[in-house]
Amino acid sequence: MTSHPFLMSALLFVAPLASAGKPQLPLPTTAERGPAPSASSSTPLEWHALEDQAVQRLSAYLRIDTANPPGNELPAAQFLQRILESEGISSTLYPSAPGRANLVARLRGNGSKRPLLLLNHLDVVPADATAWKVPPFSGTVKDGVIWGRGAIDMKSIGIMQLTALIALKRSGVALQRDVIFMAVADEEAGGELGAAFMLKAHAELFSNLEYVLNEGSRGVERDGRPLYWEISPGEKAPLWLQLVARGTAGHASRPFPAAATHRLARALGRLASWEPPVRVLPEIQEFFATIAPLQPEPRRTWFSDIRAALQKPEVREDLSHTPDLAALVRDTVAITLLKGSAKMNVLPSEASAGLDCRLLPGTDPDQFLKTLREVIADDGLTIVEEERNRATSSPSDSEAMQVIRRVLAKHTPGVPVVSPITRGASDSRFFRERGISAYGVSPYMMDDSLYAGMHGVDERISVENLQRGCRIIFEVVEGIGGL
Ligand SMILES: [Zn+2]
Repeated sequence: MTSHPFLMSALLFVAPLASAGKPQLPLPTTAERGPAPSASSSTPLEWHALEDQAVQRLSAYLRIDTANPPGNELPAAQFLQRILESEGISSTLYPSAPGRANLVARLRGNGSKRPLLLLNHLDVVPADATAWKVPPFSGTVKDGVIWGRGAIDMKSIGIMQLTALIALKRSGVALQRDVIFMAVADEEAGGELGAAFMLKAHAELFSNLEYVLNEGSRGVERDGRPLYWEISPGEKAPLWLQLVARGTAGHASRPFPAAATHRLARALGRLASWEPPVRVLPEIQEFFATIAPLQPEPRRTWFSDIRAALQKPEVREDLSHTPDLAALVRDTVAITLLKGSAKMNVLPSEASAGLDCRLLPGTDPDQFLKTLREVIADDGLTIVEEERNRATSSPSDSEAMQVIRRVLAKHTPGVPVVSPITRGASDSRFFRERGISAYGVSPYMMDDSLYAGMHGVDERISVENLQRGCRIIFEVVEGIGGL
């Protein structure tokens, strides 16, 4: 890979905030990168060694199969624990079920500020190996790219956070706050054995917690050029439903209209072609306006006032081809978990589909369900509610957000940092529900095709993204927590 315009010198990473407000140092070239000089109060950091270790560690971490279900995160937690141990950082395992565990380590600060939590999850979603170019649990490193389930979501960020913690320890940076590292189980299946378990069973670990840095959003790249960073202060609310059709079982040679599968299929057809109403929140209006200048026409014009533009069907149609953006302006319904007959020639007595709905902040779930029933337009079908969460958000002008913006701006001068809500949900919600500010900071820059690997096939991350991410997280933590 060619040298990147925002590969930064170790110089800037030792005492990044010491230079805040001072004239910007010129960006060194890749060739100029070298061992970091010592900051006055800390030990020089061998960033090259740390970066190389980060690649090896991620590769090894990806080889531990933590597909959830069943999760089996204990070996992964022990793997991270061994690394911490080798760095002289003690940590504790918190088992939550057989084979399932969470890991916590803490660097002590002087207590003048409230603690900061680096949160990541150990589990990943399952991977269909037959569709992948490399085995999904191989941790293959090839041509500057690290492959494997979890490379984006979110073992890479786990390693970035781990590296930041190690860098803080090695450098001896004096901390104002405790910095806590927590790798949790079960995020991909709702978090009951992970973050939710920890907050319930070990609440004392999080007393007085001020900030959480977790996964969420990303940097958006197009044609190899960074467009903007997304940092997420909030999330849409998952509403998970089962749509169930029941009927008389029968032989498939004699189909009838009221067969459960047929009834379900007709309802799903209506749902799939339904266009939920557009609703543009003020922060989303602002987000589109910020990224408008980066778009080709006609999007440039549309995005400058997206609320007005979305009145036109052609704009809504166009935006639907960018699901990542379309999901920001409306509640969504995805049809998943289709279940019907187990045999080709049998009409089953029951058929069902999962409806993964994601609601914008401010949408009333009961009202949404009422609308959904109208769209389904079949009172004979049952909607079973499986999970209902609230949309959560944290202040977007906090000290933590300011530091995050400053660090990202330093790494990628001129690249805007925007803070829309996240479309997906994460463990951040458990903390936000308790009044703790949680931010989604996934410090990698990816184009849409690469990002599609998350929960998809051929999930991978470039070495460059991983290594820059380690430094970004380190700087952010040092900025929020250091003296
Ligand atoms: Zn995740």
